[in-house]
Amino acid sequence: MGRFDRHALIAGWDQRRLAESTVVLCGVGALGNQCAQALALAGVGRLVLCDPDEVSESNLSRAPLFRAADIGRPKATVAARRLTKLSPVTRVDARTAPLVSGVGLAELRDASLVVSCLDSLAARLQLAGRCLQTGAPLLDGGTSAWGGEIRLYEPSGPCFGCGLTARDRAAQDDPWACADAVVPEAGASAPVSALVGSWLAVTAVRLLCGAGSGPGVVRVDAAGGTAAPVTPRRDPDCPLHTPIPAGLVAPVPHTVLSTPADLTDHLAPEETVMTWAPLPGSAPTRASTRLADAPPGARLADLGVAPREILPVLTTGRTRGIRYLELSEAGGKGTPR
Ligand SMILES: [Zn+2]
Repeated sequence: MGRFDRHALIAGWDQRRLAESTVVLCGVGALGNQCAQALALAGVGRLVLCDPDEVSESNLSRAPLFRAADIGRPKATVAARRLTKLSPVTRVDARTAPLVSGVGLAELRDASLVVSCLDSLAARLQLAGRCLQTGAPLLDGGTSAWGGEIRLYEPSGPCFGCGLTARDRAAQDDPWACADAVVPEAGASAPVSALVGSWLAVTAVRLLCGAGSGPGVVRVDAAGGTAAPVTPRRDPDCPLHTPIPAGLVAPVPHTVLSTPADLTDHLAPEETVMTWAPLPGSAPTRASTRLADAPPGARLADLGVAPREILPVLTTGRTRGIRYLELSEAGGKGTPR
């Protein structure tokens, strides 16, 4: 029998659709390991793994893709290498930058599905907001001591932020690269990560195959022996629901060598390009989100601008307005959907 022949016997399974799918998976810790492993074995065609963190010893008891020799290496790179060996049909891209610099908005928009295996509130909110900006469906997993939640958020419905209070939404969280934070939190064990990670993967595969998604949120409690749907509600005050109008997005050619100066040709005199995250570097550049404040010869990639990012362009002066530039890979697609 061939590699995927037994899958063909499963009602609702569609190997071709899986092979044509791209899944962006953010957070390659214990949960991300389990979910990515199952998706690769299932034959998903392309995985984009994003995590700025490195493998630490505490990962080894929970993350099946990591070995002791990997300690100190980037999680995303190590996981990508192991997954490629597990599933040669899966192309795996590793992004070792933080979320906003690792995966551009256009890449989220064009993904078949975005999966969040993040371990901090701030990172989850950031990813939820970026998915809502681009209309990308988001599958979010969270673990507790003996269970967890699997949450599917469609662009038109409630989001992760809707379930939080305004105070929690505004709260500053630990950096999301916090595997070994100063105050260690109880991490999910291997069995719980496998449980929730597998459930995430099952939900993702059903969605990608077009077999339906089931309830939006499922809460699993292994201690109580239950798994039950939860109905999330849309909070009208949740500030994350700000989609970018496709009609305001203009593609511009972009390569890994592109600089802020390359974007200037596409601007009117009173326009300025903004970034989603503060520019790196020293004052006064640092903390600015005006691309004009960066050295004109610096590469956008070195300024924390993700490949295939969509950047806001503000018009100053008398006619204030906003539009967007989409960094399109030179020679590739890039037309807004
Ligand atoms: Zn919301």
